[in-house]
Amino acid sequence: MDMIELDGTEGGGQLLRSALTLALCTGTGFSMQNIRGRRRRPGLMRQHLTAVNAAAAVGSAAVHGAELGATALRFEPGTVQGGDYHFATGSAGSATLVLQTVLPELWQAASPSRLRLEGGTHNPLAPSADFIADAYLPALAKMGVAVDFTLGQHGFHPAGGGMLEVQVAPCPTLKHIAFDARGALASVEAKVLMSGLPTNIGQRELQVLADRLGVEAHPRHVHVVRPAVGPGNVALVRVRHDTHVEVFSGHGERGLSAEQVGARLADAVQHYLQGEGCVGEHLSDQLLLPMALAGGGSFTTHVISEHLASNARLIEKFLPVEFDWTPAGQGWRVQVSR
Ligand code: ATP
Repeated sequence: MDMIELDGTEGGGQLLRSALTLALCTGTGFSMQNIRGRRRRPGLMRQHLTAVNAAAAVGSAAVHGAELGATALRFEPGTVQGGDYHFATGSAGSATLVLQTVLPELWQAASPSRLRLEGGTHNPLAPSADFIADAYLPALAKMGVAVDFTLGQHGFHPAGGGMLEVQVAPCPTLKHIAFDARGALASVEAKVLMSGLPTNIGQRELQVLADRLGVEAHPRHVHVVRPAVGPGNVALVRVRHDTHVEVFSGHGERGLSAEQVGARLADAVQHYLQGEGCVGEHLSDQLLLPMALAGGGSFTTHVISEHLASNARLIEKFLPVEFDWTPAGQGWRVQVSR
């Protein structure tokens, strides 16, 4: 079996997750050293280990060295099988990141799959379930990927307890899509999720978003999530343009006022609205892998993040593609080509 030697020093969990996905999509094994090498606590955390085990399960892979805290592992892919799968991070580890790890190999499989994923659905530093439903999957749908996604139960950091149900249809070839222009602004909407905390926190966050972004601050936009497995507070803003949707999130945390949560979120949304790029910072690093599997595509974005650059370098090791980015207006145009 072809094997690739990888070094994880330059990135975080994403480099490992992308390598797992690409190994299964290409049939190429890898070994990775220095996993999450520069993170405060390097090595495999529970969420990463769940992703490794999930990838191994869907792709009958042989894995050596996968345990909590491990900084090196070897992954030899087998054959990917569509089917019914159940994965649980066992904490508030992000269920959406585990989903993104197994999705491409499952849409490449010959038969459909049903997934049940347990863990965090709205974690800081990971795609929220709302982002997956309203931004990530609709972008993939343009490329031809058909996924049915249901948020069964919210799960917040640190208690977790969330659940996602996902159905994946086979999609052997993907279309080359250009996400180059977002079109005219159609709507900006906000909602706040509250669990086990006073709802006036959510109302105050909404008020800041209303003052700064002009969204509606009606109490019906504060959603009390029941049953509350643990405390949680996440403010979400969905920005719809004619041809593109982005979702931004802000997480309540101890020591941060509701006004600060709202203001930070409003800053991020305004930054996007004032720019010209179509694809937001987070979606941009997540679209690289599907576009590389498609063998082509492009998008404009306002920033080339470290995630984008390190993920592009990793993908180029598995697939015969090139990523190029060139200045475009106030931002960048990213092109994927064979
Ligand atoms: P580490 O702890 O090593 O940083 P990780 O596995 O938690 O690793 P990253 O490697 O940092 O994660 O990757 C996180 C992924 O989540 C990236 O694709 C990033 O774009 C995405 N992401 C982070 N925040 C958001 C957000 N607010 N909305 C959508 N996606 C997000």
